[in-house]
Amino acid sequence: MIKKIINKALKEQDLKRDEVLDLFKSRSNEDVAKIFEAAAELRDSKSKKIKLTSTVHLTNVCKVTPKCKYCGFAAKTSSEGYYHSFFKTQDEILNAVRSVEKSGIPRVSCSGAHGYNGKHAVEATRIVKENTSLELLVNVGADLNVKSLEELAKYGTDTICCNLETVNMELFNDLKPGERLKDRINVCTMINDAHLELSSGLLIGIGESYQDRVNHLFFLKKFPALAEIPIMGFNPYKDTPMEKHPPCSLIEQMKTIAITRLMFNDLRVTVPTPTIGPENVKFSLRAGADNLATVIPDQYPLDVKGVGSPTYGNLREVVNSVKELGLTPEM
Ligand code: SF4
Repeated sequence: MIKKIINKALKEQDLKRDEVLDLFKSRSNEDVAKIFEAAAELRDSKSKKIKLTSTVHLTNVCKVTPKCKYCGFAAKTSSEGYYHSFFKTQDEILNAVRSVEKSGIPRVSCSGAHGYNGKHAVEATRIVKENTSLELLVNVGADLNVKSLEELAKYGTDTICCNLETVNMELFNDLKPGERLKDRINVCTMINDAHLELSSGLLIGIGESYQDRVNHLFFLKKFPALAEIPIMGFNPYKDTPMEKHPPCSLIEQMKTIAITRLMFNDLRVTVPTPTIGPENVKFSLRAGADNLATVIPDQYPLDVKGVGSPTYGNLREVVNSVKELGLTPEM
C-alpha cells in the first residue's frame, strides 16, 4: 500500500488526499524509513545542494494582543527568549547582514513582530538589497499591506513568508487569540497575486490531527506562487501558556518534512534549526529538506534567540552535518 503511494510520488505524480493521509498514518519502522528514503531520493534527484538561510530579527515588540500562546519571541513572553524589548537600528541590521554575507551564507531572513504595516520589513529590505548580494526572505507574518508589498517588490525581495501555522480554525483561534486566520490567508493571497515568491508553512505538534496537516498541505496548493514550505516543530518556551505542552517529536517532524517533499517535489522544504534542534539537523536532511534556516555564523554581531526555541544552528556545525550526508551546502 505505502509502496504504491511512494512509487507514485517518486514518479512525480500528484498524490490524493487519502494517500497523503495514509502516509501520515504509517507506523511501522519499515514504512516510515521508506518514506524518509523516498523523500531524500526525490530531493537528490533534483539537486544535492542544500540552501542555508541566516536571520536578522528586526523587533520583538509585538502589538498582537493577546499574544500567541506558544510565543517566546515577543517581549516579556518568556525568560528564555529575548524578553526585553528591542528595535534593531539600521547599523545593527547592516552589520548583521554584512557578517552573514562574509560568512558565505547566501540567504538571509529578516523577520519581526507585528504592528508596523510592513514598514520595518521595507526598511530592512532596503538595507539588505542596497548593501549586499544576499537573497532575502521577509517574514513579518500578516503585518503587510498592498503598499508595503509593492515596496518590498521594488527593492527586490526574493521571497515573502506568511505562515498559516494551522488551517484548523478552532485550533488557530485557541493558540493565536490575537490574530485571525483569514488575515494570514489574505496576505498569502496578496503575495501570490502580486506574483511574488510565497513561503508559507506549518507549525506541528500543537494539537493538530493528521487530517489537519493533510488539509493544510492541500490548501497551500491553491497558491501558484508558493515556492517554499517551512515545517516547524513545536517546542515549549518557558513561562508561556504552552510551557507544559509536550514538544513535537522528532519522528513527527521528519514524517511531515518527508511527506511535504513527496507532495511538492520541486519546492524548497525548509527546516528552521531552532524548531528541530541544531543537533537534529541531519535528520531533517535525511527526510528530504533542502533549506536550513536560522543558521548563524561565528562572527555574527547580535544576540539570537530562535523563533520556536532559544537555540539555533551554528554555521560550522550545520555545514559539517550537510557534508557528512554527502550533500553540498550552497555557499
Ligand atoms: S508569535 Fe508572532 S504574532 Fe504571535 S505574539 Fe509572537 S511575535 Fe506576535
